[in-house]
Amino acid sequence: MNQTLENFLCVFKCPVCLDPIRLGDEESTLCPVCRAKFESEKREICVDCGLPAPLCRCHGEFMPRDDNGRLVKLAFYRAGNRSAIDRLVLRMKHCLDGRAFDFAARQLAPGILSELAERGSEPSRAIVTYAPRSARSERRDGFDQGLELSLAISRVTGIRHETVLYRSKHSRMQKSLDPISRHRNAAEAFRTAKDTDLAGFDVILVDDVVTTGSTMNSCISLLKRARAGAVICVALAKTRTS
Ligand SMILES: [Zn+2]
Ligand SMILES: [Zn+2]
Repeated sequence: MNQTLENFLCVFKCPVCLDPIRLGDEESTLCPVCRAKFESEKREICVDCGLPAPLCRCHGEFMPRDDNGRLVKLAFYRAGNRSAIDRLVLRMKHCLDGRAFDFAARQLAPGILSELAERGSEPSRAIVTYAPRSARSERRDGFDQGLELSLAISRVTGIRHETVLYRSKHSRMQKSLDPISRHRNAAEAFRTAKDTDLAGFDVILVDDVVTTGSTMNSCISLLKRARAGAVICVALAKTRTS
């Protein structure tokens, strides 16, 4: 099929393989092949708790061991292995594809709402926010995927979005550092505005991928210092090294 005709017949592209999604398949954001792949990746069992990723709440290595470190996630992630989740994460990092963000938000919503319910909270007493990426990455891609995911989660769940975390001026990119330096760097990488007061609110804290959890850990401390109630950490995926 030539490109023009294909574009005319196929309105959307699958955010994982970038193949056009044909008429009749529009209700699913992913093409049928990637959808099947993604569903099977979601069934991968956590080596620590024995549950599939969407039910596993295991923390990152450097995240608090209490309820505030429980991590809602969709899948386990190995960078560069061309899995559906790996390609979805990459797409969302570098391309402002609204349907990909909406898809991820719809996938994450049940886990978020059940965590709120389990803690006796409700959407009207919560806000959703994100761990901002470095200014350099944001300049390169023109947007912050954490913000976009946070906004999409807000649209899907009805939980109010609020930006409360900011990057400190001189923070370095986490990616280039070893785990211990990451942990030290993350502790100084974020800040809240001086008058931030989250008393009475639980916070849904969004990031794209959690590796050691240093970023989450540092953001949780700041949110707690601003008197937040429960913190519920949310990521598309948690990195698996094995
Ligand atoms: Zn696809
Ligand atoms: Zn687990």
